[in-house]
Amino acid sequence: MMPAIFVGHGSPMNIIEENEYTSGWKQVAQSLERPSAILSVSAHWFSRRTCVYSGFSPRTIHDFFGFPKILYGITYPAPGAPWTAREVLRLLKPAATPDNSWGLDHGTWSVLHAMYPSADIPVFQVSIDAFAPPERHFALGRTLRPLRKENVLIMGSGNIVHNLALLDVEKSGGFGWAYDFDDYIDRAVRKKSPEDVIHYERAGRAANYAFNVPDHFYPLLYALGAAFEHEPVTDFNHSCMAGSLSMTSYVFGT
Ligand code: ZN
Repeated sequence: MMPAIFVGHGSPMNIIEENEYTSGWKQVAQSLERPSAILSVSAHWFSRRTCVYSGFSPRTIHDFFGFPKILYGITYPAPGAPWTAREVLRLLKPAATPDNSWGLDHGTWSVLHAMYPSADIPVFQVSIDAFAPPERHFALGRTLRPLRKENVLIMGSGNIVHNLALLDVEKSGGFGWAYDFDDYIDRAVRKKSPEDVIHYERAGRAANYAFNVPDHFYPLLYALGAAFEHEPVTDFNHSCMAGSLSMTSYVFGT
């Protein structure tokens, strides 16, 4: 059965850089069987309801600003997965609606560009309903779980700690509270205690700083929801950077 993964995507610069994070992504891709399709829940499709892209060719969205020009010329021309998307719409009924106005935003393609550079595996995104509470996102992940048996790679792409207002690009590691929150979530993930991830405010003071908007945090709940209790959890890219960003990522299953 295909594992479910959560990936900390960080800066769009990872698209053109070769660094510890991109090599972590490549290693994970090499450790997996080839997926039949990739279902990505990216922080950057944060919408008014749960939407599913069900078209044949998702466009590459360059949803970042002020980065080197070269990034805007790179595309990720993977095909869509309309059949799997239709199955998702059925599974998530009545919560989800088809919406082909989106495509692949950088939360998805910056990571897949390193993981699967030939862009030949069908990919589609499911959006995050900005108005739904954390437990709902976890439940939606749980509903998607059967797809793993069909070799679909369920990928959440965000960052456990993501506070751009407090970003310090000169800093190599994280602030104390960033490690505190990252560690709290790590313990909850390893203990197989999704309740403590859903109720992340239990982390205390660190939770107040971890993010202002939960868009980058919620993708973790989809991967966690898609995981089975007995499965092994493996972390990778376990680190904080630029003060207020965590790159910590997980593979659920083998
Ligand atoms: Zn992002």
